[in-house]
Amino acid sequence: MAAEETIRAEATAIWDVRGVAATLLWDQQTALPAGAGEQRARQIAWAERALHERYRSDALGRMLEALPGEGDAASLARVLRHERERALRVPSELREELSEAAGLAQQAWVRARASSCFADFLPFLRRNVELRRRYADCFPELDDPYDALLDDYDPHARTREVALVLEDLKRRLVPLAGAVRGRTPEEPLRGPFAVERQRAFVAELLPAVGLDAARLRIVESPHPLTISMGVEDVGVTTRYDEANLDGVFLALHELGHALYEQGFEPAIADTPLAQGASASMHEAQARLFENLLGRSRPFWRFALPRLEAAFPEALAHVGLDDLEAVVNSVRNSPIRLQADELTYCLHTVLRFELERALLDGTLSPADLPETWAAKCAAYLGLEVDDDAAGVLQDVHWAFGAFGYFPTYALGNVIAVQLWEAVRRDVPGLDEEIADGRFDSLLEWLRERIWRHGRRLPADDLLRQAIGVDVDVEPYAAYLEAKFGAREVAAR
Ligand code: ZN
Repeated sequence: MAAEETIRAEATAIWDVRGVAATLLWDQQTALPAGAGEQRARQIAWAERALHERYRSDALGRMLEALPGEGDAASLARVLRHERERALRVPSELREELSEAAGLAQQAWVRARASSCFADFLPFLRRNVELRRRYADCFPELDDPYDALLDDYDPHARTREVALVLEDLKRRLVPLAGAVRGRTPEEPLRGPFAVERQRAFVAELLPAVGLDAARLRIVESPHPLTISMGVEDVGVTTRYDEANLDGVFLALHELGHALYEQGFEPAIADTPLAQGASASMHEAQARLFENLLGRSRPFWRFALPRLEAAFPEALAHVGLDDLEAVVNSVRNSPIRLQADELTYCLHTVLRFELERALLDGTLSPADLPETWAAKCAAYLGLEVDDDAAGVLQDVHWAFGAFGYFPTYALGNVIAVQLWEAVRRDVPGLDEEIADGRFDSLLEWLRERIWRHGRRLPADDLLRQAIGVDVDVEPYAAYLEAKFGAREVAAR
């Protein structure tokens, strides 16, 4: 076999192991019997160790030495080399421990969150933090231990640069959010919105926008997520509350992730190139569909009649103007997943600062709720009522996903850059969307972003797509224009 074919076969084998781990993970997140937590955590840890060892194998090392450097083969070599270099640093035992501890912590998190008791979760958090610190220690050459965690999500990203972006966002958004806080929010829509009808609405909406239903599953889980078990099998979850329609927006967020996962070109499917260029680029797709499309007037011209058909009583007197106002209302919530666009990034800044402090040891896990509350007051002007609405609200620190939070903020920034570019390139976009025609939007994103997967590093991909680097300015200007340029100008 030629070197390219050999490496391609190995890449597919690696990607199949990842698919097995992802399938177990999907099952863990969506369908696990209460008593099976430990067993499944062990099984996932085993699969992740197998993946880790495949990356570490001498055979892969020899193949990569022989691999020529052009086209997809070169991209594949770049991605495999990076994964391999990192895998070689981390002992397999530690890899397995990280995974198993995360699985157990997640089970504990579900219980602790249900009873709003941080103390029940604390030992698991301590263990996760300790293991992440050991993980970061495997990369002593990095300037900042947080770099090691960030790289798992945004390859080659550096904490120093990410921190500058987040500082910039904080500097601009804290005063803006403060100025807007005094306003009376829009009256929310009055339910009840029966869960089974929301479920049916979402099941029709997602394929109507462009997901391939034949390669899709949609179910419910405590934490909304998208897991690709392979390009032919993408799983999306959301959660519903009879009192509101938040679940629809959570589903629109996952829609963006799922479109990306379904959008990789067949030429790179079943290889490690079939993944988002970075977690930030992935979040950008999600936030674009959730907010920039999903809260736009043209979108609701298309979707409102369908929503009215699902909830004729609740929406009897709700017009397009009302709906647009409600879904764009400022809603300063202590819960990140319910936050409005304006305050959302501040939630991620808060978590980024806390997880950096946990990692470098300046914050003890036991002191997390207190520090959380202080930052929540300073950035959002909010008091935290209980642990479930505070430090226990997100799954990430249970799941072991330290380093992920900044990608939400970067995703917001990139989403606005992409949205402005697509609007420039497709002049009739609003009319098309209002008619339920999403082809131009999807084609633009597929052509420039989705189909390439990880062929290019994320920064290069963005530059190739829209000609510029990540830039906070369009996003900050968008929020200032939308939520109160007047107050800021008067400052
Ligand atoms: Zn997301």
